[in-house]
Amino acid sequence: MTTASAYAATSPTSGLSASTIDRREPEADDVEIAIDYCGLCHSDVHAVRGEWGGTDYPLAPGHEIVGRVTQVGEHVSGFQEGDLVGVGCMVDSCRVCASCQDGQEQYCEQGLTPTYGGPDRRHDGVTTQGGYSSHIVVNQGYVLRVPENLDPAAVAPLLCAGVTTYSPLRYFGVKEGDSVGVVGLGGLGHMAVKIAKAMGATVTVFTTSSSKSQAAHELGADNVVLSTDEEAMEEMVYSFNFIVDTVAARHDLNPFLASLKRDGGLVQLGLPSDEMPPVDPRILIRRRLSYLGSNIGGIAETQEMLDFCAEHGVVSEIEMVKADELDEAYDRMVAGDVRYRFVLDNSSLPEAGQGASRGDAPAGRKA
Ligand code: NAP
Ligand code: ZN
Ligand code: ZN
Repeated sequence: MTTASAYAATSPTSGLSASTIDRREPEADDVEIAIDYCGLCHSDVHAVRGEWGGTDYPLAPGHEIVGRVTQVGEHVSGFQEGDLVGVGCMVDSCRVCASCQDGQEQYCEQGLTPTYGGPDRRHDGVTTQGGYSSHIVVNQGYVLRVPENLDPAAVAPLLCAGVTTYSPLRYFGVKEGDSVGVVGLGGLGHMAVKIAKAMGATVTVFTTSSSKSQAAHELGADNVVLSTDEEAMEEMVYSFNFIVDTVAARHDLNPFLASLKRDGGLVQLGLPSDEMPPVDPRILIRRRLSYLGSNIGGIAETQEMLDFCAEHGVVSEIEMVKADELDEAYDRMVAGDVRYRFVLDNSSLPEAGQGASRGDAPAGRKA
């Protein structure tokens, strides 16, 4: 057992503060990783603040992890000490169900083992703890290779926001000439814009923030529509092949469904804690539309996404934060005041004493 330095919440209202967590010694198939960076996902906010219910405290969140391998177990192949690696939203799954066999571990019929906040199925059911910590130990089957040609801090958000948007865009088969709408320009939304553009699509951003218009164009969006402007929304009718909806709060999907072409699809990615208004089946029926949800991406698909991003030079737009700025960053995320992903500089965590050696710690990045 080693002790990791961490930032954790003890209740829905405690905020995050310095803490320690136990990490197992690497077993034969495990990789130990000294974490350099961890992205802040809106799911971390939902979980830490108990918005989805069932949060098991204390909880150190974080599932957009990038770091260096410090140790590997004797059966590990493909990773060695010093490798730049990533861990996303899951650290295990049943490995035998149809979804796991298909490389769709995110849809594991027994439930995936989340990187934080869930029972560790192979380790006495202890609650998993995430990447707001100095180091982590993960089974090699759930560790990703991070391309060395990208800024590792800006890669961290790809491990959740990147794959969560890449996966449905690939599922839809987005290609050159397709017209894609992206609803909500936050962490997930800005990755959807970049990835859909890299796939060759024409991209329209729907935002509630008129101040984001210029920035959306700079990210590559071809059009920007203020979703609160009813007239502008009506003009979008029959415009899109696919829409990815990334909004973190309750909202009406029907105006977005109405902007799809025949045979179009809208995938909901955001998981608001409040119930959503019902989808009008008449809109679906009159155009043979699909309304679906999508959960992160499989391990092989996450690797494919990282390699795709390396090839196309796609990374997240980030703002670095230190550990003692996490609570403020959460408030800013809830207020929609982030362009477009906060990333924790894990070298700002207090020393744990007993943790994995960080080796050459990355130079402290300016916030
Ligand atoms: P985020 O960075 O906070 O972005 C969410 C965006 O939603 C905001 O930037 C904002 O964009 C828009 N929005 C509109 N009205 C809002 C309101 N009242 N409150 C908050 N946001 C509002 O969040 P994120 O990290 O991208 O995550 C988005 C959602 O996806 C969260 O619910 C998260 O839990 C979920 N998620 C799902 C998966 C999955 O696998 N399905 C994976 C990761 C995250 P505009 O200002 O442009 O309107
Ligand atoms: Zn996430
Ligand atoms: Zn399974």
